[in-house]
Amino acid sequence: MMRFSGFTARMYLHFIGAMLAVVASSSIYSSCELRRFREGNQTGELQRHASMLTMIPAIADSNADPSSIDAACKEIGNNTGLRITVMAAGGHVVGDSQSDPATMDNHLERPEMRKAMEGGIGVSTRFSDTTRRRMLYVAAPFGAPGNPRGVVRVSVAVENPDPGFASLRSHMLASTALAAALFAVVAAFLSRRITGPIASICGAARRLSSGDLAARCAVPADTDLKNLADAFNGMARQLGERMETIARQHNELTTVLESMSDGVLAVDAAERVIEVNRSAAALLDIDPAMSRGRSIQEVARNPEMQNLVAATLRGASAAEETVIRFGTSDRFLRVTSAPLVDRESRTIGAVVVFSDVTRMKKLETVRQEFAANASHELKTPVTAIRGCVETMKDSSLTPEETRSFLDMLDRHSVRLDTLVNDLLNLSRIEHDAGTRSIAMEPARVRDILQKACDSYAERAGAKNMSILLECPDALSVNANPGLLEEAIGNLLDNAIRYSGSGSPVRVEGRLAGPGNVELLVKDEGPGIEAKHLDRIWERFYRVDPARSRSLGGTGLGLSIVKNIAVAHGGKVRAESEPGKGSKFVISMPGRRAETWEL
Ligand code: ADP
Repeated sequence: MMRFSGFTARMYLHFIGAMLAVVASSSIYSSCELRRFREGNQTGELQRHASMLTMIPAIADSNADPSSIDAACKEIGNNTGLRITVMAAGGHVVGDSQSDPATMDNHLERPEMRKAMEGGIGVSTRFSDTTRRRMLYVAAPFGAPGNPRGVVRVSVAVENPDPGFASLRSHMLASTALAAALFAVVAAFLSRRITGPIASICGAARRLSSGDLAARCAVPADTDLKNLADAFNGMARQLGERMETIARQHNELTTVLESMSDGVLAVDAAERVIEVNRSAAALLDIDPAMSRGRSIQEVARNPEMQNLVAATLRGASAAEETVIRFGTSDRFLRVTSAPLVDRESRTIGAVVVFSDVTRMKKLETVRQEFAANASHELKTPVTAIRGCVETMKDSSLTPEETRSFLDMLDRHSVRLDTLVNDLLNLSRIEHDAGTRSIAMEPARVRDILQKACDSYAERAGAKNMSILLECPDALSVNANPGLLEEAIGNLLDNAIRYSGSGSPVRVEGRLAGPGNVELLVKDEGPGIEAKHLDRIWERFYRVDPARSRSLGGTGLGLSIVKNIAVAHGGKVRAESEPGKGSKFVISMPGRRAETWEL
């Protein structure tokens, strides 16, 4: 079955409409013409009959007996099917084939009769009161020309076309209907043929507009439509290529944005977020999908950032950079805001790039604090030394006083030396760890611990303390033995320094889990309150500064230990309770798998 699209159906209907209009108007016209032709024929025929009848004496003789005229009329009328009426010059009917003349009124005023009485042939068509039908009348005068003695009128009913005429008409109708049916079929094919290519182009355009970039239309043979189809297909191809380029560029941009460690946030001129990358979402603690389309006030709840964006949108052309503290947290962001401009250099938005500089900021603070602390620590012995020297310049000092000042000078210069050494040590370890230039080698833990213990044996002995070492021989680590020994030495130094005379110090090396080696220094000294435990690893942090100083501490020992542990991929912890001694632990990766089975 033939299926029509809307367009084809409309075209088909137009065809059918046009055809019906043509058929209807031509039918009406031909039927009118036919009617006129038939009436003309009938009139001519009746005229001939009328003229013939005027020549029949039984009819056209005014002297004849009216009843014989009437009888002749009726006889001829019966034989011919015509109605024949004979009117005398006075207008009264003397004979009629279908009626009794006596009942008929004066006919002189009938138009055809009047015309005939004037000498011509009268023709008229009208409704007859006598026959109760529409009749065609033709009247012809008889008698001398210019002085007719009467009129013979022949008439016939016009609504009753003869059967031949009716069949002609029905044949005409049948052939018209056949032609119309044929035309309907042809019109269907024609509409399909004309609208098919257009419908194909329309369908392809519809698919294209709904996002199917592969949509193409069939190319018809007709030149104009072929050009249209070619142009459409060319346009679709170009559109596809452009969309592909845009999608590729968008993907590239998204990949770049998403892989950036810096946060990127773009807003339009109305300060609504149009783009936000993953890093920005993480830094601002927002959901990227929810943020798009929202105002920057909702997304970045930070007045400084909002002000920066507003200033950029107001027309600051150059990129602006600032470091802001984000929210109430301790997070610091370095924010750069630059305007987004279109081809006409109009500001259509702003792009904000920000990075987390919290670590840098903290390091800066630590560095500043360190510089201040170091200066302060150095200043104390230097001031003391200068004071001693100034005093000693006075020659009136007794030998005992001189001796006491020299002792003081010695103490402070030793302290200065220790401090400078510790500082240098610390910076060297930090530097080497930072540049990964610490030489590592496989080393037996026991050897390292033993050396450290040996170094401090004398000092321990001076306080009547014993150092007890416990470590499996096979335990080994990848380490810089000198540094690790220094770390254990610092812990031993503290244990001996802060513990009371005679108490033992235990040094231990052990396997604390697969791949994890622990080095411990335990003492039975005064212990440390829990609140200080986390902070003792900071540089210059002392639980009791005066005591530490008086015992020759620099406040740097444990931070050196921590740095050495970190440089070895390890970490430190301290466990202590006031009055119950302290335990300092360096935990670091062990060297070999077989070690784990110890
Ligand atoms: P210091 O040179 O002052 O000893 P450290 O960094 O080595 O500096 O130690 C930091 C602080 O930790 C010390 O001032 C001290 O108060 C405390 N401390 C360290 N080791 C011990 C220990 N074994 N027993 C008690 N307190 C200790």
